Order: sequence, then structure tokens, then C-alpha cells
Amino acid sequence: MEAQIIIDTLEYDYIPARLFNVHAQGGQGDIPFTHAYPEVWVVRDEDYTRGREIVHRYEKTPIDTGVISCPTCHEENPRNFQLCWKCGSGLEVALYKT
Ligand SMILES: [Zn+2]
Repeated sequence: MEAQIIIDTLEYDYIPARLFNVHAQGGQGDIPFTHAYPEVWVVRDEDYTRGREIVHRYEKTPIDTGVISCPTCHEENPRNFQLCWKCGSGLEVALYKT
């Protein structure tokens, strides 16, 4: 599930990304972000640097036990999420309210 959240976060910043599992064959020109499986790959090489920073920022985000409610579907999300895991809506509005 976490890999899908990373992809959603990347696409939120207009970086198309794909999820590959360990057995998938990567296309030429793709660059893997992580060594953990499954892997998140950017579609365009020119997005790699920016995408890597976004993933790095995501990975560095401290774990917070607090939760915030999605403004769209009201599902509870960890406070460090930028996007609702359930419906994909941005959580910034909820962050500002708390
Ligand atoms: Zn939601």
C-alpha cells in the first residue's frame, strides 16, 4: 500500500510513475527509486531527480501517531500523509484545520 501512496504523491506533483513488482521486467530508460519491493519507477527520465526528492521527503517524514480525517470521504489518514489513501484527495485542507 505504501508504494501506491508514493505513486499517488508523485502524480500529485505531475510526475507519472508506475509500480513494478519484483518479477516484472522494467522498460528501458526507467530508473528504480528503491531497492525494496515492489519498486516505484518514474516514467520519464527527466523526472527522476525531482521524483527522488519527493520520495526522499516522504521517507524522511517523521511517523506521527496522530490521524486526520479526509475532507472528501472522512476516512482517517496518518497525519503525515499528503493524500487520502482511500480516495486520493489532498489532505492539506484538513492539515490546516488541525
Ligand atoms: Zn478520502
